[in-house]
Formats: sequence, C-alpha cells, structure tokens
Amino acid sequence: MMKYWRKPLDYDQVKVPRGTVVIIKERCKGCAFCVEFCPKDVLKMSEEYNEKGYHPPFVAKDGECVNCELCEMLCPEFAIYSLTIDEEGGVERVKVTAQQDEMSSVQKESGSADESVEKDIEFKVAIGKVGGR
Ligand code: SF4
Ligand code: SF4
Repeated sequence: MMKYWRKPLDYDQVKVPRGTVVIIKERCKGCAFCVEFCPKDVLKMSEEYNEKGYHPPFVAKDGECVNCELCEMLCPEFAIYSLTIDEEGGVERVKVTAQQDEMSSVQKESGSADESVEKDIEFKVAIGKVGGR
C-alpha cells in the first residue's frame, strides 16, 4: 500500500516526550474515556472496584506514555493526569505543588485531608525526584 506521509527531515533529532501517569482511583467514575483515547494505549480498565463501585484504569504499558495530557483533558472527574519525566528521569514538580495546595484546601474545608489526594502525593514521592526541597 502506498504511504501518504513522509518522515520529517529532522526526525532523528526529535525527542519523544516521556511522562508518567497518576491515577486517583477513588475519584474515577469508570467512563473509560482515558483508555479509549490514549494514543499510545497506555491504559486499560482494571477489574478492581473503587469505593464508589467503579472500575478505575491502570497503566498497562509502563514507559509508553508520551505526556500528551489527553487523558487529563478528557477525564470528567479530574482523576488522572500525567507528569513530565525529564532526561535525567526526574518528575516535574509543578502539578505536585498544585496537588499539595488542593490537599491543604480540602483540609481547611473539612478538617481532614482527602485520602485519595494524600495517597497520590505519597505515590509521587515514592516514584522519586519529588517531595524533598
Ligand atoms: S498523557 Fe497521553 S500518552 Fe500518556 S497516558 Fe495520557 S493519553 Fe496516554
Ligand atoms: S477518564 Fe477519568 S473517570 Fe473516566 S475512566 Fe479515566 S480516570 Fe476514570
């Protein structure tokens, strides 16, 4: 079959962005938009249930995320987002800070932290390169 596209001239110099996906399972309503539209098929729906009784997605192809943020834009529940992985393997901090702000506002409003947000931050600290100043 004839190909209708060409390789860009600077193809060898193009660096494919890398990302890591964070899923806040307890916020998920199981709509599967993120799974359906991820261009790299990174995500799949899991068999497990969250507290609301929905199946959240999981990362099926670790290391394949290109940080396009489509899942993040499509998710109606703000339950998923991606973080940039830099060339040294470090994870960006901007969204982590936003999440920490969100957690403290939840704490102010309700007197206690949203457990899913707290776990999410723990996760990002666990995957490294974030948390310490
Ligand atoms: S950021 Fe893009 S490539 Fe990564 S999981 Fe989301 S939709 Fe897929
Ligand atoms: S788009 Fe959001 S709510 Fe829908 S399955 Fe994915 S994480 Fe869950």
